[in-house]
Amino acid sequence: MQLINADLHSHSDVSDGTLSPEALATRAHAQGVELWALTDHDELGGVARAREAALDLGMGFLAGCEISVTFAGESVHIVGLGVDPEDEALVAGLQAIRSGRRERAERMSQALAAVGIRGAFEGALRYVGNPELISRTHFARWLVEAGYFAETHEVFRHYLAAGKPGHVPHHWAGLGDAVRWITGAGGVAVIAHPARYRFSPTAEYALFSEFVAHGGQAVEVVTGSHTVAEQLQYADTALEFELLASRGSDFHSPDESRVDLGALPDLPGRLTPVWQALAGRIQRA
Ligand code: AMP
Ligand code: MN
Ligand code: MN
Ligand code: MN
Repeated sequence: MQLINADLHSHSDVSDGTLSPEALATRAHAQGVELWALTDHDELGGVARAREAALDLGMGFLAGCEISVTFAGESVHIVGLGVDPEDEALVAGLQAIRSGRRERAERMSQALAAVGIRGAFEGALRYVGNPELISRTHFARWLVEAGYFAETHEVFRHYLAAGKPGHVPHHWAGLGDAVRWITGAGGVAVIAHPARYRFSPTAEYALFSEFVAHGGQAVEVVTGSHTVAEQLQYADTALEFELLASRGSDFHSPDESRVDLGALPDLPGRLTPVWQALAGRIQRA
């Protein structure tokens, strides 16, 4: 079977990416992407602009989002693909998740001040494109600009990852809520970048089992932050749980992302691509 170049995970400046939805569409097209999804964190505000730009360029488009979930004390990301961006329950659910971000950011700023880094809230705000969506990424960009570190990954490692001085525990959506918002809006729910969570094998098994029980249907196997070994590992997991497989760069920025839009290996041939189940949801010119 001939696989298309699908990139079903990317961020614009409506969440923590640096490019506008239009610029992201242009870059995806220039990179050879044939089917593209915008999946901003907890936000659908860029979807209409992204769709228009994609269709003008002749790319297939899926409306998407990446929902922040708390599962077993860890932040887990669930991507929704092919959702109706006007669906009331989905829109209200995402609004509820976003509402805690500003206060969390103020507490992060206080925590950073306690270790000698002052003015982080105001600094991060300078990088924010959407006032409802202040992310750790915006703090990381300001800390790089302020000269603390050379790149954002280093900021996470020293200050912003769980257990580090600038990290503030936060309660996001429930797994079942996120899956139901997505499926209720006509979309397919996808476990994003599963190799990035720090679960024991037992907790990971619980994540996949409960995800399926709630109606989740897919897992990201090929993604910008997976090694080849991790792609093979989660290909096996996809087969074990009878899940569809997704492919997406998780592109955020030309300066920060290690993998460009569409610049990923193909899905292993033994898997069923998630876009086969989304044929009726793909928008074309
Ligand atoms: P938040 O939603 O505010 O908790 O921020 C999560 C975002 O931080 C993710 O979507 C990534 O874009 C970014 N992020 C998380 N961990 C890292 C890391 N180790 N290096 C760079 N960016 C990261
Ligand atoms: Mn992000
Ligand atoms: Mn993510
Ligand atoms: Mn992402």
